[in-house]
Amino acid sequence: GGKDGRIVIEDDWPGYSLDLFTYPEHYCGDLQSVYIPHGVIMDRTERLARNIMDDLGDHDIVILCVLKGGYKFCADLVEFIKALSRNSRKSLPMRVDFIRLKSYLNDQSTASLHIVGEEDLSFLRGKNVLIVEAIVDTGKTMKALLKHVEAFEPKMVKVAGLLVKRVSSGVGSFPDYVGFEIPNRFVVGYALDYNERFRDLHDSDNSDHRKLNFRKR
Ligand code: 5GP
Repeated sequence: GGKDGRIVIEDDWPGYSLDLFTYPEHYCGDLQSVYIPHGVIMDRTERLARNIMDDLGDHDIVILCVLKGGYKFCADLVEFIKALSRNSRKSLPMRVDFIRLKSYLNDQSTASLHIVGEEDLSFLRGKNVLIVEAIVDTGKTMKALLKHVEAFEPKMVKVAGLLVKRVSSGVGSFPDYVGFEIPNRFVVGYALDYNERFRDLHDSDNSDHRKLNFRKR
């Protein structure tokens, strides 16, 4: 059904030609196509917010944003959740917190979970927690993060992932709320980086920046 659904992007989807949109000139030679336009990301995120409200809207929640890549998705998701709760009789107290992970070297996923500047997460005890992550590839990072979070004994943990890669390893953990299922290609933009580049694809001041782009390799 719609609630467990996702937008599936097929392996042969080439993306939109860069010429159809605007994008920062300094990335001109590095990008192959616009994979998911910003407006589509936003519309899908709005629906995920509704699904989350339907499931979790009765209790206060802790949103745990996975940095750095998750900051755009998390900010937009939180805005949509706030708008929904303003426009309904459900008012949902939210705490937004952050955890910073490092798992990639170039475009290779590394096996171990590395929490940067590790904080005490004991405030998660007894809470409903929503982990917000931009992209899940093998799911190993999410699996390790869930194990870490569960050690603080939250009441419930759900995961929202904007993008999930179609990989069939079966070793990892996958989000409860998924925006898009994508082929196994490396994407940048909308806060996702490649060695710290391309995050600003969503960050410039014209309208060209928030799309997800497929990087040439
Ligand atoms: P996993 O443990 O699921 O294999 O890797 C998840 C992490 O790898 C994500 O949190 C993200 O940081 C990074 N990652 C995986 N695929 C991509 C990608 O296509 N683009 C970018 N920028 N990061 C990715």
